[in-house]
Amino acid sequence: MSTLRFKALSETFNRKPVPVTEPARRSEIFGDNVFNEKAMRQYLTKDSYKSVMEAIDKGTKIDRGVADHISTGMKEWAISKGATHYTHWFQPLTGATAEKHDAFFETVEGGLAIEKFGGGQLVQQEPDASSFPNGGIRNTFEARGYTAWDPTSPAFIYGTTLCIPTVFVAYTGEALDNKTPLLRSLQSIDQAATAVAKYFDKNVTKVVATLGWEQEYFLIDKSLAAARPDISLAGRTLLGHSSAKGQQLDDHYFGSIPTRVLNYMRDLETECMHLGVPVKTRHNEVAPNQFELAPIFEEANLAVDHNSLLMDVMDKVAERHNFKVLFHEKPFAGINGSGKHNNWSLATSTGVNLLGPGSTPMKNLQFLTFFINTIKAVNEYEELLRASIASASNDHRLGANEAPPAIISVFIGSQLTEVLDELEKVTSGKLSPQEKTELKLNVVGKIPEIMLDNTDRNRTSPFAFTGNKFEFRAVGSTANCANPMTVLNAVVAKQLVDFKKEVDALIANKKMKKDDAIFNVLREYIKQSKRIRFEGDGYGDAWEKEAKKRGLSNNKTTPLALKAKVSKKAIALFEELGILNKVEIEARHEIEVEEYAKRIQIEGRILGDIARNHVVPTAIRYQNILIENVRGLKEIYGTSFKKVAAEQMHLIESISNHIEKINVGINKMIDERKKANTMTDMEKRAFAYCDKVKPYFEEIRYHCDKLELLVDDELWPLPKYRELLFTK
Ligand code: ADP
Ligand code: MG
Repeated sequence: MSTLRFKALSETFNRKPVPVTEPARRSEIFGDNVFNEKAMRQYLTKDSYKSVMEAIDKGTKIDRGVADHISTGMKEWAISKGATHYTHWFQPLTGATAEKHDAFFETVEGGLAIEKFGGGQLVQQEPDASSFPNGGIRNTFEARGYTAWDPTSPAFIYGTTLCIPTVFVAYTGEALDNKTPLLRSLQSIDQAATAVAKYFDKNVTKVVATLGWEQEYFLIDKSLAAARPDISLAGRTLLGHSSAKGQQLDDHYFGSIPTRVLNYMRDLETECMHLGVPVKTRHNEVAPNQFELAPIFEEANLAVDHNSLLMDVMDKVAERHNFKVLFHEKPFAGINGSGKHNNWSLATSTGVNLLGPGSTPMKNLQFLTFFINTIKAVNEYEELLRASIASASNDHRLGANEAPPAIISVFIGSQLTEVLDELEKVTSGKLSPQEKTELKLNVVGKIPEIMLDNTDRNRTSPFAFTGNKFEFRAVGSTANCANPMTVLNAVVAKQLVDFKKEVDALIANKKMKKDDAIFNVLREYIKQSKRIRFEGDGYGDAWEKEAKKRGLSNNKTTPLALKAKVSKKAIALFEELGILNKVEIEARHEIEVEEYAKRIQIEGRILGDIARNHVVPTAIRYQNILIENVRGLKEIYGTSFKKVAAEQMHLIESISNHIEKINVGINKMIDERKKANTMTDMEKRAFAYCDKVKPYFEEIRYHCDKLELLVDDELWPLPKYRELLFTK
């Protein structure tokens, strides 16, 4: 056995759970490292506090003079908590988070020093940001960008650093991050949804989108992960024969959590409590060593920040527990991959969940309005939603042999299907009083308030209604939720704007009553968006064929899927709502196709290296042992040796055959890479990597995995699937 594998295994076997201490009551530490309302009340003047709260609620600008007061209060609070540094914390288009720490410490005249943090430093910073992806927005002569404080997401202390959530924009105004368009989309949905919600309740002044994500991940022992170059560099295995036992016994899902893992989770959750991330649920997932963590839902901007923060904290806590977290959507072939369900809904300033059915027909009409508009929006922009979750790693789920498919559809369950079928039959034009009573009592009134029926759940649907929220399940586990949430908010906002126009027109031109008009428009929407509704099995070929007939897109790869992001329709949508302009959209597309090409390039290199430097030499060594054996047999048996050495000779040949196939595959793959690299058009390059380079991965892997089965286990240098997945 290679020394690395041997060392990794023995370290793993000798691991003891790392002890953790937890507070008796989590509520006592919740948010104590967050500059929340409680801390603000204590450290800010009344006026400063009011101005932050107004900025959060109404989006008003914070005056520079007030900002000076706020920064001073924030600094005092942070220092009282042991912070020495501050950073503008932002989410560049790499999808990760970025930070550059500055000390509060400053020198003043006379060789003295003070702790300082002014309003200017709170409100705006200029990180030397030329190394962040910008898709050509920032030319070298205008290579500056700046970060600006986002008061809607509270500052927090992580370690000894005060982190201030910020947006990241170019000096010319274009967004260079994921947060800016998200905030703009939240504004759009607020406006559009508030206007519609006022049909039902005049007191609604604001609507926020809510998000509850569910983060799936794998935990692998640190030493084992380090002994695998593919896991270390690409976050997934590029080869490895499947283990004799995988997930076929279904014995991991919701099973008892191993102590080592549980201690990791407890430690992680304590960190989350301090940071105000309201984590609530933890459990084993379907695949061995796969787990899930979910919080209580929050306002979407905060929830997105919390998910980004969480992923970072997960990595850090894992180090203490000798684990490596794999966020990749498909770290292991042959067993389940990971997703990040995005549970989404709309909540009013009056405390109503607009996607929650109510106890009266009127409340249910409101519910149906938002419910049907969301379905219509998904129907209109299904391809854009698919694009919003496209990435090299998520391609292993969508469009590969894993639910959900690359086809976007909406699952609503049998109860609501019946309701929509009834509504569709409503006669057009004004409704008679009888009809209305009938409708309200027997259709709308029939929707039960609580619909969380667990039996009526379709696990293969990419976009499912689950009782009081929609669950966008196709989002990948590595994703920054800002992207899909921006698109979902945008398409629903646009839809609600159109809806309001249509209803108002019927009221004004046809003299219809408000609810008549609403029924009339909803009925048409139900008809128009029928093709997007699918209650069946999303896995099968049958659905692919059916979806094609319905005209739904089925973009199985990222370069293909991303095209929808730069379509005329998408640009029109984002420009109309003021979320992104054409330059920003095209820049993002450029960044994403380039990132795709780079990821496949990196994986191709890793696979080539492992196959050539680990697998082939090991196979040759084993082959030499066999040759030695055959020689010995020949010595003993003379001319009749072939009978006793037949198996060995067959093995020798098989090994040569696999080695040859591997080498041919790698050479061809390298040729294709070279060709792809000469392409200056990034989209073309991405397509080349997708269609020409990537197909060799499977071929090379196939022969490597065959060799893994043939070669003496003692010699095999890489930790095997059974070791990666079943050591606890
Ligand atoms: P599951 O989907 O696994 O059965 P739940 O339905 O209990 O689990 O909830 C999953 C996630 O949905 C949780 O993160 C929860 O906070 C979130 N969620 C619940 N209600 C809403 C809502 N109104 N808006 C957004 N997310 C929500
Ligand atoms: Mg769920």
